[in-house]
Amino acid sequence: MKKFITLSFDDGVTQDRRFAELLRKYGLKCTFNVNSALLGRDGELIFEGGKRVSHKKIAPEELSSLYDGFEVAVHTRTHPLLLNCSVRRILEEVIGDSVKLSELTGYPVLGMAYPGAHPNYDRLVTETVRTYTNIRYARTIVSTYHFEFPEDFLLWNPTAHILDEKTESLIDRFAKDEGDGLLYLWGHTYEFDLHDCWDRAEKILEKLSKVEGAQCVTNMQVFESVTGEKKQ
Ligand SMILES: [Zn+2]
Repeated sequence: MKKFITLSFDDGVTQDRRFAELLRKYGLKCTFNVNSALLGRDGELIFEGGKRVSHKKIAPEELSSLYDGFEVAVHTRTHPLLLNCSVRRILEEVIGDSVKLSELTGYPVLGMAYPGAHPNYDRLVTETVRTYTNIRYARTIVSTYHFEFPEDFLLWNPTAHILDEKTESLIDRFAKDEGDGLLYLWGHTYEFDLHDCWDRAEKILEKLSKVEGAQCVTNMQVFESVTGEKKQ
C-alpha cells in the first residue's frame, strides 16, 4: 500500500535546527529546500505590524549533519522569482544549486521546490527544468486539500501549508481514508517564530506520527515509490 505522509520546508533557516529535533523525536522524515549561495547569511524578515523574525541561514558546514536522515533539495542558488529569469539564469540557479548541494550532502540532490510567492513558475520555467535538468520533481505552493498523488511531478501541488487552519482536520480525514494516498504539508520553520506557534507545530508532528498505516517519507521517496525510479 502507498499511504504516505511527506513534509517540505524551505529556505534552510536556522529554525530548521529546532524543527529537525522535533522530527527526530517523532520519527518523521522531511525534505529541506536550500539556497546554496545564501548559506551562512544573516537575515531578518519584517512583517506587517513590525514583527521581526530571524531569516538567518544555516552554515554550509552544518548542512550535512543537520539534515542527516532527511532529504536536501534544490530551492535555487539565490531565491530569485524564476518567472523573471532567462532560460540561462533558470539553469544556473537550478543546476548550480543541485551541484553545490550534492557536494555538501554527498548524494545526488535532484528534488526541488520553486522559490517565491505564488505564482512562482510558468510553462517556460517548468519546461526548462524538465528539458535541460535532472530534477525529478518540483513543488509549488498551491494547496490541493486532497490526498492524490501528483499527475506531473514537476508541478507537484502540496495538500496544504502546515499552518493552514484545516491542517488538523486534514490529518484526521487522511487517517480515516482507506487505501493509497499522500498527505503533503509544507512551510518555513521561521513561521513558527513569526506566529509563536512551536507548540502547534509539535502537536501536528505528534498527530502525524500517530496516523496508522501511513509511512512518513521524503519527497524523493514518494517520487521513487510512485514512478519506480530509484535516484538516491
Ligand atoms: Zn523560499
